Amino acid sequence: MTRSERLLMGPGPSNPYPEVMKALSEPVLGHLDPEFIALLDETNDYLRTVWQTSNSLTFPISATGSAGMEAAFVNFVKPGDCVVVGVNGVFGTRMCDVATRAGAEVVKVEEDWGRAIDPQRLLEAHPDPALIAVVHAETSTGIRNDIAPLGENKGGALLLVDCVTSLGGIPVLTDDWGIDIAYSGSQKCLGVPPGLSPITISERAMEHLIPTPQSWYLDLNMIKDYVLGDGARAYHHTAPISMLYALHAGLETVLGEGLKETWARHQSCGDYLHEQLPELGFDLWAQEGHRLPELTTVTLPEGLDDAQGRKILLERYGIEVGGGLGPVAGKVWRIGCMGHTARIENIDRLLTALKEVKSELC
Ligand SMILES: *Cc1c(COP(=O)(O)O)cnc(C)c1O
Repeated sequence: MTRSERLLMGPGPSNPYPEVMKALSEPVLGHLDPEFIALLDETNDYLRTVWQTSNSLTFPISATGSAGMEAAFVNFVKPGDCVVVGVNGVFGTRMCDVATRAGAEVVKVEEDWGRAIDPQRLLEAHPDPALIAVVHAETSTGIRNDIAPLGENKGGALLLVDCVTSLGGIPVLTDDWGIDIAYSGSQKCLGVPPGLSPITISERAMEHLIPTPQSWYLDLNMIKDYVLGDGARAYHHTAPISMLYALHAGLETVLGEGLKETWARHQSCGDYLHEQLPELGFDLWAQEGHRLPELTTVTLPEGLDDAQGRKILLERYGIEVGGGLGPVAGKVWRIGCMGHTARIENIDRLLTALKEVKSELC
């Protein structure tokens, strides 16, 4: 099985759209070249559509989703600020860590892994938090947390949402839901390789921007002069030109198909997978009603060894699926169905492989 035949159905990178791989081989321009600046501006316009926002500060951070998470906290959280964080998986846990390092007094609202967090619990966790943070799509468990009720009732708090595995895969309605700060990653549902973190910041959040955040590289005060600057763009760092071509091409592919149509494709692939997997003996693990179409978690049939099963899938069939994390390590699999990967024929390829692996090992 050659590398180009790999089917990435893990929780990490999805298969990029073919147009994206072509864009990566385009000639490199300078990061202050007017032609490149125009492409960046257009990319940010596309991002506003994908985020469903009119926020002027909407752009890709030059690093992966984790840098988006870090930028989202360090620019808005001062030492001593109260930050309420929803924790029902790896990425909520990581948010607590990042907020703590930024000096926040973190109030954790925990829920069992595999279950969604009740928004009311987040809203009642503290009378007057500076910020409420939650993960929209928990990649470690396949759970979707509700966002709209948080925006509606956040009061004076800023609402910060991790949309790394939701943007481009399921509806993310930044403005309608009252999200103030949100970040994503290029490699999940957007169908681009890893390396960029689209972020969007509301005008309300901009009023809370810290003048000199702890991080120099992620300081939005400086980056915004490059992103929003009029013609005279101030140099802050060298934009990763080829990755921006790739993101531009990925967003053009998504918007060319139609954002709603892209969501619908992810949903119908998820629905198909959720219907077929239990028939093969792989029971759905995440709470019903909150299951992500783009990341499905299943328990393993009796007798199927986690490591051995995934090794055969990868080596013989060229299909990558992810293992369980934390409390369910070794007990569940995480099946991604994102971006260009989200096609019925890819699910059929997986189902055929699962059937054969199961009859061989069980
Ligand atoms: C993948 C992921 C991240 C981290 O993004 P990287 O691109 O791996 O740095 C953060 N949050 C969630 C929900 C993720 O799925």
